[in-house]
Amino acid sequence: MTDQMITDSSPNTAPPDSSEPDYEVVVIGAGVGGIYQIKRLIDLGVNATVLEGDEDLGGTWYRNRYPGARFDSESFTYGYSWDREVLEEWHWKEMFSPQPETLKYLNYVADKFGLRDHMQFNCYVEKMVFDEPSCNWTLLLKDGREITSRFVLTAIGLLSVPTLPRIKGIDDFEGASFHTFDWPLEPIDLEGKRVAVIGTGATAIQLIPEVAKEAETLTVFQRRANWAAPLNNREISEEEMADIRKRYDEIFETCARTPGGFEHAPDRRGFYNVSAEERRELWDRLYDGPGFGIWLQNFVEIFMDEDANAEFSEYIAERIRQRVDDPDLAEKLIPKDHGFGIQRVPLETDYFEAYNRDNVHFVDSSETPIQNITKTGVQTSDEHYEFDVIVYATGFDAFTGAFDRMDVRGVNGLSLKEKWSQGPVTYLGLFVHGFPNLMMISGPQTAATNFPRGAELAVNWATGLLEHLWASDKRRFETSLAAEQGWFDHVVKMYEPFLLRKAQSWITGYNSNLDGHEYGKTRYNIYNGGGPKYAGRLQQVAQDGYEGIAIE
Ligand SMILES: Cc1cc2nc3c(=O)[nH]c(=O)nc-3n(C[C@H](O)[C@H](O)[C@H](O)COP(=O)(O)OP(=O)(O)OC[C@H]3O[C@@H](n4cnc5c(N)ncnc54)[C@H](O)[C@@H]3O)c2cc1C
Repeated sequence: MTDQMITDSSPNTAPPDSSEPDYEVVVIGAGVGGIYQIKRLIDLGVNATVLEGDEDLGGTWYRNRYPGARFDSESFTYGYSWDREVLEEWHWKEMFSPQPETLKYLNYVADKFGLRDHMQFNCYVEKMVFDEPSCNWTLLLKDGREITSRFVLTAIGLLSVPTLPRIKGIDDFEGASFHTFDWPLEPIDLEGKRVAVIGTGATAIQLIPEVAKEAETLTVFQRRANWAAPLNNREISEEEMADIRKRYDEIFETCARTPGGFEHAPDRRGFYNVSAEERRELWDRLYDGPGFGIWLQNFVEIFMDEDANAEFSEYIAERIRQRVDDPDLAEKLIPKDHGFGIQRVPLETDYFEAYNRDNVHFVDSSETPIQNITKTGVQTSDEHYEFDVIVYATGFDAFTGAFDRMDVRGVNGLSLKEKWSQGPVTYLGLFVHGFPNLMMISGPQTAATNFPRGAELAVNWATGLLEHLWASDKRRFETSLAAEQGWFDHVVKMYEPFLLRKAQSWITGYNSNLDGHEYGKTRYNIYNGGGPKYAGRLQQVAQDGYEGIAIE
């Protein structure tokens, strides 16, 4: 911690005044969202601070240090767009930046603008209580401190609470074991080790090929297969980076126009308007192309029409068969319970080829379920496997997990966790009725996009609302129940046309390791209307004098 941070953590130099809070704005979380939010507030000269539970900034990119961790967004579309100097100075080394490089980038941005001086680390917020008479929030920190703030902006992450599987005996294991989110900060040497990976979701699909190269043996326990397609990563040369820098305006304009906030735009020719050969030609091109192209540059019918989805899924299945030597194993790696692209598509580098290695073993946990973890390994219904390291790649309590972990109390002690017990309900993904002076940056029910593109939009919009309040000398905002219900109904409606409404994934709130997240109890976690529609709606609401929000 720097001196400044220590000063920052005890801001009460003036005598306490019942209505004057310690801060005008508290931002919770120092990930991609919180870093930009504090920058905007500091530039406005606002008395603001970031409270971060971890010992340093970066959020997702501070935590997920497993081998192979990287984003699937093209690096230059993921970086911040708001500072010309940063865009000119930073060289993205790879098309899809690995975790260490992204963490370096976030630190570079924070240090360039002195943002650490406005961040307090090891400050996990356990509880927040709204006080009606003063219109302030009181935040209770894990270390026992209390901080008051007029406004609170949460930037606590959509994938920031890992979930371990509900398997007996996890604590009994005497070797090293951890969730991928908690991969040791100091790199762990896997050479000569017998490693288990439990789970085959997006994280495992990045991790498995890397562990396979290092470990003596790797045993993968798969309960459900996931579709995956090549990332097609490569280095970015100096010349190419110079060209990207010239194109930045165009790149960000394109991202603002496309539903997913990427340069990838859907193919609008119409699945049934082109021949099967033309479809195949597109898919061959996309399969060999970078990133989410295979998902987002595809025909839109893939996402809505069972037959179109089945034809494309079969195309990908065929690709998997070509890459896996053992035909029986290939069939096990091909999902049979859902079509391609209705869940978030994991992107991979040599994932399927990893299973061709002699040191990689596959256990089908749907046939021989894991019964318990023992002192020395994993006991399935038919065998005991011995390991030195067990890695749980078992995902997250997505979207609402970080909110559920805090005890957030609004008007008359209303509990956010209770209000959201059946799933989130918001206005625009930013507000919740009963919780005044609170906005969520990248909360549930915002457009699911390339993350920073959506986060920048939310930060700018939220900052605009605060400026509006300050300019008109107001001190309280709250969304109405009717506005909240209207947005929720719209969010639900936007699930209907898409096959993803059936997904067993965090898009529908499914998580077999969490009570209340069973399949069928759909939680409407995202807004499916796409980035441009969402941005248009936000703009309209602001233009209409912040329609749906009472400002006093
Ligand atoms: C492995 C992985 C790969 C990903 N790849 C992509 C990708 O390719 N493209 C993409 O767009 N997105 C991707 N994401 C999503 C990623 O989470 C976002 O891109 C982005 O990093 C989220 O930033 P954030 O600031 O909202 O949240 P986070 O980075 O999650 O940061 C939230 C911060 O809030 C803190 N916090 C939470 N609760 C509290 C509390 N009560 N008190 C104090 N502090 C608290 C946490 O400690 C954390 O530091 C990926 C996520 C993961 C896990």
